Amino acid sequence: MDCNILILGAGGLGCEILKNLVMCQVSAITIVDMDTIELTNLNRQFLFEDCDIGAPKATTAVNYIQRHHPHARTKLTALVTDLTTLSAEFYKGFDFIISGLDAIAPRRFVNEMVVQNALQSNYESLVPFIDSGTEGLKGHVKTIIPGFTACWECSIETLPKGEETVPMCTIANNPRNLKHVIEYVISVEYPPGTLPAGASDEQIAAHYRDVVDACERRAKQYNIPTDTLTPSYVMGVVKRIIPSVSTMNAVIAAQACNEAVRIYHDLFAVGDAETPGSNNFCILNGSDGCFAYAFAHERRPDCPVCSVLS
Ligand SMILES: [Zn+2]
Repeated sequence: MDCNILILGAGGLGCEILKNLVMCQVSAITIVDMDTIELTNLNRQFLFEDCDIGAPKATTAVNYIQRHHPHARTKLTALVTDLTTLSAEFYKGFDFIISGLDAIAPRRFVNEMVVQNALQSNYESLVPFIDSGTEGLKGHVKTIIPGFTACWECSIETLPKGEETVPMCTIANNPRNLKHVIEYVISVEYPPGTLPAGASDEQIAAHYRDVVDACERRAKQYNIPTDTLTPSYVMGVVKRIIPSVSTMNAVIAAQACNEAVRIYHDLFAVGDAETPGSNNFCILNGSDGCFAYAFAHERRPDCPVCSVLS
C-alpha cells in the first residue's frame, strides 16, 4: 500500500498493528509512544524481549522490525513523545491514523485534531482516524472520517459507565494513583498463587500485610499518597482487574488494519444503515461465545466536536 500511516501506541495493539502494516508493505509508518517496556508487557507485546526492559517502546518496536525484516519495504519512524504535544501540521501529514491507545483522553485529543484540521483546511486535510481498543475478551474498532461519519465523540455514550479500567502497561509504567500501585504489586510481586489454596486466616492476613508494605514502597517511589491504603482496600482493587488477552488484541488490530485497507481500495461508503459498506463501528465480544456486530454509527447533530462540520 502506497501510503503514510501514523500508529498511536506501541503496546499490545500497537505491536500487532505495526506487524500487520509492515506485512501489507505500507510505504511509510510512524509509530508514537512515550512509554518504556516493562516485564509485564512481554506476554503480548511480542516485538519486545527481556533485554529491552526499560527501553522506549516505539524505538524498540521499529528496531525489531528492521533487525528481523531488513528487506521490508516500509520506511519506519519512531517517536518517543506525548502525542498530545504534536502539532496540527504533524497530524495533517498522514493518509491514515490508527490508534491502539489504552486511555480515553488522547483519543479525544486526536479526534478533535482530525476534525479541526478538516474544518480549517476546508476538507483538504481529511485523515481517516481508525480507533481500536480492547478490554479482556471484548474489543472495538471505530472508523472516523471527519465530517462524513460519526466522530469519536459522537459515540462517547457507548463507553462503560463507572470507573475506568486500566490496562497493565499503564499501571506498570506510569502509576498515577494508589489503585495503579496495588494492581502492579498484586500482578507482579504477589501474583495469583502466591497465597496457597487453603491458607489459614493468619496466613491470609500476613499475606495482605506484605502486599500493603510492598504497595507502600512502590507508592513512595512515585510520590503517591497512601492515606487510604489498608488490606481491605487492596482486596477491593483486586476484584476489578481485567487481564489483557493477546488473542483479542490480535483480532482487533487486524480489524483496524482491514479498515485502512478497505478505505485505501475505496470500499468504504458513507451513508446510513442501508448503505452497503457504510459500517464504521464494530464490536467484538469473545467472552460470551463469538459475537461480532458492525453498524453505521450516526453523527450526533449536537456533537461538541464534529457538529461544526457541515
Ligand atoms: Zn462527533
